[in-house]
Amino acid sequence: MTASTSIILSIGQKIGSHKVLVGEALMTRYEHIWKMDRPLTAMAVILPETTKDVSHILACCHDHNQPISIQGGLTNLVGGTETNDKEIVVSLEKMNLIEEVDKEGRNMTVQAGTILADIHLQAQANEMTFPLNFGAKGSAQIGGIISTNAGGLRVVKYGMTRQLILGLEAVLADGTIVSSMKKIIKDNSGYDLKQLFIGSEGTLGIVTRAVLKLVEAPRSRSSVMVAIESYSQVIQLLKHMDGGLAGRLSGFELMWNNFYTRATTAPAQVRPPLPQSFPYYVLIESLGSDYATDSLRLEELTEQAFTEGIIADAAFAESEQEMEWFWRIREDVHACVSQFQNDQHFDISIPIPLIGALLENMTKQILELPEVTGLVTFGHVADGNIHIIVGKQNTDHVLTTKINAIVYNPLESIGGSISAEHGIGLHKKAYLHLSRSDAELALMKTMKVAMDPKGILNPGRIFDL
Ligand SMILES: Cc1cc2nc3c(=O)[nH]c(=O)nc-3n(C[C@H](O)[C@H](O)[C@H](O)COP(=O)(O)OP(=O)(O)OC[C@H]3O[C@@H](n4cnc5c(N)ncnc54)[C@H](O)[C@@H]3O)c2cc1C
Repeated sequence: MTASTSIILSIGQKIGSHKVLVGEALMTRYEHIWKMDRPLTAMAVILPETTKDVSHILACCHDHNQPISIQGGLTNLVGGTETNDKEIVVSLEKMNLIEEVDKEGRNMTVQAGTILADIHLQAQANEMTFPLNFGAKGSAQIGGIISTNAGGLRVVKYGMTRQLILGLEAVLADGTIVSSMKKIIKDNSGYDLKQLFIGSEGTLGIVTRAVLKLVEAPRSRSSVMVAIESYSQVIQLLKHMDGGLAGRLSGFELMWNNFYTRATTAPAQVRPPLPQSFPYYVLIESLGSDYATDSLRLEELTEQAFTEGIIADAAFAESEQEMEWFWRIREDVHACVSQFQNDQHFDISIPIPLIGALLENMTKQILELPEVTGLVTFGHVADGNIHIIVGKQNTDHVLTTKINAIVYNPLESIGGSISAEHGIGLHKKAYLHLSRSDAELALMKTMKVAMDPKGILNPGRIFDL
């Protein structure tokens, strides 16, 4: 019997062999939702059903120095779930129970494999909301979301995942269960250990359960799309709206002309609510408690911005259907870039005042490369988070590296980040030093070695030891 067969057998004996998939059974598994046609390469896939199962799996792998790759909903955009035939995959998909909704305490207790859309439905059924929202909500699991500290569309009002987790349970590399499933908001009794697992991309432990913070469901939603002539006016508008809406600003999404025009021109199926001739468009959302007063306030502020010359044009969403129409333009990124091939994606953070000039410079340099076929720029500008998608004639490594250099190199001197929300995974680790100092990297590695001394959890993700 080989060493690998013996590990798989002992895990099966401990947790039940029906939870262990090997051989032919792996042919239907995959490593990413966009690669379902390619069978997974791995030694085995294990499907734990309880925290104790996870603990047994890790204790066994730890004893045998066995590397593990952790799978959530497989929607990450950084190669975090790419595997090889030396790794055992642990998938949390069977741990998808919503254990409790505490209406008075305003929280929900879930297992790590619970899908975000199911959490939304359960919160809604209890007249509350879990405000984290993004395009992959139908597949992404809360364990993966926690491990990547996902952001999305309403960070300006509610914060990132980190701000929305009250309690957490995780299993360390040696099988130790660290359970901190408290429902309280404030807890300064020593280190906030749950934060170690949030955003560490499965390199420090496997998240098994969490207590999520819920908020009262907003009773009104209003949106306006505006057109703007210059980036300095975008910043003026952000201040004007944030101040004027007094806590109700929940979305401030910037689209450059290159994005807006593609998103509203065939084959994209959405019409443009405003002419396609302006350099910038901002889609603004306000969430509040009374539609009549909230929408009136948004209209007043927009009119004022027009009178003061901050915006050049505006279109209000007058109905639910119009709201859907406007938001589809921003959210359906796939429709916008479906004509691109070999696309390269960026998710960077830049201090807000510097975004306009920096993006102009980057765009110019990228479009000068002859093998580049197009580019779109858009993002959560109130969070300083910009996305760039570049279409290319090929996947040539030299070209990819040139584009990476254009986007990433300027970030170091201005205190930006190579990843605002998607993480590092396998794809961005060569550039991590541009976002983090030597001392920060050394401390990260010290923590990794302390918590996973044999380096078995998601090896090679974020950095190499
Ligand atoms: C269409 C689309 C839109 C997106 N939009 C956004 C957006 O607006 N904002 C944003 O922040 N992100 C966005 N993302 C990416 C986002 O990071 C992921 O969607 C999500 O957070 C990952 O969850 P997942 O369950 O799919 O995790 P996976 O992709 O399965 O895993 C992500 C990482 O976490 C690890 N992991 C998974 N589960 C666990 C666990 N239980 N314990 C420990 N480690 C674990 C994995 O090993 C991997 O390293 C988008 C992705 C897509 C495809």
